Amino acid sequence: MMNGEDMNKKRAVVIGAGIGGLATAVRLALKGYETHLYEKNGSAGGKIGELRLEGCRFDTGPSLFTLPDLVDELFTLAGENPRDHFRYIPLESSCRYFWDDGMMLNAWTDRHRFAEEAEKVTGEPHENILGFLDECAELYDLTAGIFIFSPFYQFENFRKPESLHVARNFRKLHAFSTMHGVISRRFRSPKLIQLFDRYATYNGSSPYRAPGTLNVIAHLEHNMGAFFPEKGMREIVDALEGLANRCGVTIHTGEEVVSVVKEGKSIRGVETSSGITSCGVVVSDVDVIPFYRKLLKEEGPARKQERQERSTSALIFYWAMNRRFEELDLHNIFFSSDYPGEFRALRKGEVTDDPTVYLFASSRVVPRDAPAGKDNWFVMINVPYDRGQDWKRIVRAACANIIKKLGRRLGCDIEAAIDAEEVLDPKLIERLTASHRGALYGSSSNSRFAAFRRHPNVRNRYDNLWFVGGSVHPGGGIPLCLASARIACDMIPPAE
Ligand SMILES: Cc1cc2nc3c(=O)[nH]c(=O)nc-3n(C[C@H](O)[C@H](O)[C@H](O)COP(=O)(O)OP(=O)(O)OC[C@H]3O[C@@H](n4cnc5c(N)ncnc54)[C@H](O)[C@@H]3O)c2cc1C
Repeated sequence: MMNGEDMNKKRAVVIGAGIGGLATAVRLALKGYETHLYEKNGSAGGKIGELRLEGCRFDTGPSLFTLPDLVDELFTLAGENPRDHFRYIPLESSCRYFWDDGMMLNAWTDRHRFAEEAEKVTGEPHENILGFLDECAELYDLTAGIFIFSPFYQFENFRKPESLHVARNFRKLHAFSTMHGVISRRFRSPKLIQLFDRYATYNGSSPYRAPGTLNVIAHLEHNMGAFFPEKGMREIVDALEGLANRCGVTIHTGEEVVSVVKEGKSIRGVETSSGITSCGVVVSDVDVIPFYRKLLKEEGPARKQERQERSTSALIFYWAMNRRFEELDLHNIFFSSDYPGEFRALRKGEVTDDPTVYLFASSRVVPRDAPAGKDNWFVMINVPYDRGQDWKRIVRAACANIIKKLGRRLGCDIEAAIDAEEVLDPKLIERLTASHRGALYGSSSNSRFAAFRRHPNVRNRYDNLWFVGGSVHPGGGIPLCLASARIACDMIPPAE
């Protein structure tokens, strides 16, 4: 018979049911822990939300889905066939690009087809494009094992043979150039340079400041493929929540953790409105800054994290449209005519009058997401993280500029086609998900040292506290949050 103390050691608490928290809870349950997952909101998912409006369904957060194997892996670990619970399709085109001068380009996921179409449209020789994509693939092979899928800040990590291989090929990392610097040396076409520069925004950074190593991001869509869940992005959460339940995780939705109970180097438990739950393992999926400040009540580490520049945030209009626009694909980009100007404005905490507009219409893959003959538009621009700007004014101005830009390019009155609207801005993102200043991806990668300064998945200060999610190593975005859960849980010993 176990005594109370032993039972508590077998109990694990995960704080926050974002994708990182859900994946962690599944992994801990499979390690034999009695796992409790606490989520302050009424449902799990964090940034991967859902909205219904005027007969339309919208995914409110992420829409680009790469490396689906990382989701599948969780079902396989539990001895299940992923396809029995979670289904997704490979996309033929990862994005349709529009420029103000009337040019349009499909980014086919078949790289040869893409390179041929890009050559026809931009004049850039297809060999250059394929050569650059090969370089991105090589970057991934060099960096993934060290920078993405392991706790690379640990000393032992630098003694692995892979690290020596990286050191020998250091020049190929382009750590001392910017993404834009590398890309603009590879291509002559300004349009293709802009297309590849855009991948910096996948972690909320600027191509003019982020290190060239981040050109690895293009490899995911262009060489490994882009995917989409058959029922929309929210299916990722629903499927993982189902898996967590089957693994025996207790999910406490609507129950905020208000503090963490410390004793010396150990965390003894967490406090919620229902009282204190004692446990032997705690994993936080909460943004590290509010975690330190509000839950651990430690101002020093919170300030240290705050010194790192936050990633960009987003302003999103969810528009139920009264007609269907056949010229749109699932993912569409309407580029700014002044890309450097757009990032200069973001750096100053402002929004340009000519922003790059991302338009996502999930009904292209999930027809029931919009009524027949209509569209569900998720219209997003990158905006700075919240620094106390007048968001009401910014939202009004951006809405008018976006309507003008899309109207010009699609040749119609966009305002007249909007039946209903909801808006998400950085302040609301922070309120809903506790992301510091509404940043989408924690700290930005606008420095060659960013990866080294990102908060690790474990700190020596506490012997039973781990960190996952978009604000810690290896970074934001669904695949990296899933990687953080794998890294943290690999360090946690199985329940005795
Ligand atoms: C608009 C938008 C677009 C994006 N686009 C993409 C994309 O296309 N592709 C992509 O891969 N990624 C994208 N991302 C990023 C991606 O969504 C995130 O990196 C990822 O979902 C974050 O997961 P997480 O595990 O960090 O948890 P989060 O989603 O940040 O969730 C944290 C959870 O913790 C809960 N919580 C906080 N404090 C407490 C507390 N004290 N007690 C209990 N619960 C608490 C919150 O309520 C929340 O549910 C996008 C994000 C946004 C917002």
